[in-house]
Amino acid sequence: MNFHELKQKISDSGIVGAGGAGFPTHIKLNENAETIILNCAECEPLIQVDQQLIGVYTKEILTSLNLLVESMGAKNGIIAIKEKYKNAITSINDYIDQYPLLKLHLLPNVYPSGDEVVLIYETTGKVVPKGSIPISVGAVVVNAETVLNIYEAVYQGKAVTSKYVTVIGEVNNPITIRVPIGTSVRDIIKMAGGLSLEDVEIIMGGPMTGKIVSKNAPVTKTTKAIIVLPKDHQLILKKISNTPVHIKKVMSVCSQCRMCTDLCPRNLLGHKVEPHKLMNALANGITSDLTAYTTALGCCDCGVCEMYACHHDLSPRSLMMECKQKLLSAGIKPEAKESYKVHSARENRYIPSKRLVQRLGLSKYDVEAKIDNTLKEVNKVEILLTQHIGAPGMPQVEKEVEVKKGDIVAVIPEGKLGSIIHASIDGIIENVSGRSITIRARGEQDE
Ligand code: SF4
Ligand code: SF4
Repeated sequence: MNFHELKQKISDSGIVGAGGAGFPTHIKLNENAETIILNCAECEPLIQVDQQLIGVYTKEILTSLNLLVESMGAKNGIIAIKEKYKNAITSINDYIDQYPLLKLHLLPNVYPSGDEVVLIYETTGKVVPKGSIPISVGAVVVNAETVLNIYEAVYQGKAVTSKYVTVIGEVNNPITIRVPIGTSVRDIIKMAGGLSLEDVEIIMGGPMTGKIVSKNAPVTKTTKAIIVLPKDHQLILKKISNTPVHIKKVMSVCSQCRMCTDLCPRNLLGHKVEPHKLMNALANGITSDLTAYTTALGCCDCGVCEMYACHHDLSPRSLMMECKQKLLSAGIKPEAKESYKVHSARENRYIPSKRLVQRLGLSKYDVEAKIDNTLKEVNKVEILLTQHIGAPGMPQVEKEVEVKKGDIVAVIPEGKLGSIIHASIDGIIENVSGRSITIRARGEQDE
């Protein structure tokens, strides 16, 4: 299969990055790539999907990665995985000799080794310029589950209709399960044996970057985890805090110790990302030094400053991200430099995952969530029209129409960036709105 046929297949199958913000994969692939990096770092605590998938579907994932390397004319493919995932590594070693263009790279057990810019530096020694994308240094980074989706599209003709999700925390049976896209968090918690505590909040995504959601929230093409925590857990209290509170706290207690900056993974790679300067400017109403604000443009939302570095429980990440969004919507872009000087103490400032788990108060929940790869059945799905970067999908179905799993229900608007969306179960279209398409399995009623 040549590059253009592969891109078309990936686009037709609705494949987006399954491990991040959901960038459409057909746009990410690039014939100028020298190296394709398989991101199997699984850097956020508690999530287990990628290392489990590569352990179970090793041959499929390596075959698919090899296809990407060959069709893009890249020099090689690098499988980047943390050294602690011994079972997955054994399985990779059983097959890798069959793929001369692929090599294995073991990552330290630190956070955030799965951040694209960090991962590219760890595996190739190149620093992606601030505000640039990986292809600027000849790299394309693809998540392990995304590559499995490419395998299923190319070799089995399947569109993306399901998602692997780790369900962990206050549930009776922590598990990694495969569910139709659009399955509600409520149904997923039932599949994990139900709640082990009554008063809980739910995080969709990892503990560092995930967001609090309701039990009605549907799984999307990018959902990697559902983490159930007590309502008064420190992580929940941190996540429900808001900007006015963050600013008041900065004004009263920021000591300008600079730990947020000194441990910032982007700063350590030489990017000018200095959260302590923004904190100082906000605390003291400084408007004369605009660089204190534009520093936010290089923030990747990893949360190290806020969840780990700051000893005063302040929220530099939240303020950096809010400032970044405002600057970007005003058309202000980051300026890239020619070269970057990586900090000489970078490796001494790695954040060990185990210590991070302790700091987040998650040690109790850091248990194995065994994978069950049989596709679960559900009565109803709500498929969001925005579950990828770009324009929302344009619905192609109407109420009361019957659909089969794999049918196209929404397309990419003409001339826009986006991804095709498919029905994830057989059933009847119950509702179509500007936000989502709901499908009910034939003959099923709400419980
Ligand atoms: S780590 Fe906390 S106290 Fe120190 S400079 Fe940053 S925000 Fe201020
Ligand atoms: S969230 Fe904090 S630590 Fe992470 S990149 Fe942004 S400023 Fe740096």
